[in-house]
Amino acid sequence: MNLKSVMREFATEQKCIDYLVRQRWNGVPICPYCNSQKSYVIEKGRRFKCGNNECYKKYSVTVGTIFHASNLPLTTWLPALYLITAHKKGISSCQLARDLEISQKSAWFVLHRIRKQLQQDNSDLLSGTVEIDETYMSKKFASEYVGLSPEKSKAFVKKAQPYKHKMRGAVVAIAHPQTGQIRAEAFNAKTLDVIKGMVNKNVEIGSTIHTDEALIYKNAFPDYTRKHVNHWRREWVKDGVTVNHVENFFGVMKRGVVGIYHQISFKHLQAYINEFSYRYNSRKTTDGNRFETVCTNLEGRLTYKQLVYGKSEENNQETT
Ligand SMILES: [Zn+2]
Repeated sequence: MNLKSVMREFATEQKCIDYLVRQRWNGVPICPYCNSQKSYVIEKGRRFKCGNNECYKKYSVTVGTIFHASNLPLTTWLPALYLITAHKKGISSCQLARDLEISQKSAWFVLHRIRKQLQQDNSDLLSGTVEIDETYMSKKFASEYVGLSPEKSKAFVKKAQPYKHKMRGAVVAIAHPQTGQIRAEAFNAKTLDVIKGMVNKNVEIGSTIHTDEALIYKNAFPDYTRKHVNHWRREWVKDGVTVNHVENFFGVMKRGVVGIYHQISFKHLQAYINEFSYRYNSRKTTDGNRFETVCTNLEGRLTYKQLVYGKSEENNQETT
């Protein structure tokens, strides 16, 4: 699948609907209100009517998805989904607006809805060896962090200049080199509680954690084995200990943010993190596979297995 075949495949609204019916329901519409698989095609195939005589509700394939109740046609949404998942560094709303001939405002909205969809389901714990590191994404977040009005924040920032490194949106990320997976979250600042919380939520007790020499990690993980490299001493990999995987992710994300999005607000930082970690985690699959995986999982969040292997059915069988 490439852009040309995407444009051909999704040339009309009906083609998009048929595609989503296949991807989302395996070709058999399921009533979103009562789960009945009996349905009638109405409105020349644009919508369906539930065949359960206690329900009889009408529905479309977009109900409960990111496309629901949107003024934009699916002939815009599906190519947009392809473009954002295929571009290695992301795509700006200005570029998407030009590509799809929609307003920049619409493109911005489309991108944010898609980012929400790309949020991963990270409910399982990582085990073995993980890497943890943290970074600051932008200098712009001072007012949002301390909750001040723009006027007050100006004065505050001036006064707090020496501490400005403490006021930016922090990103804490955990890499699992064994599976090539990354998990990242945005926080107001990096604190011991934040880092401990992130580890407890994502890593199995007893696992080994690789960090850099930062003091914050010293004695932070009593239930884990911590090993570290010392970047001040120019150690990047020492006796198998490294945080290069996390730093690689941060590098890609920073280049994307600077080069494509220019500036992002703290409010939306997590959304961008979702987008970049989604792309990072599915980096070994093809553009077409990545797109189809998102289309088979329009209701919920993507699990790592869905991201990487693109097989939602297989994954469901494993977990149920
Ligand atoms: Zn029904």
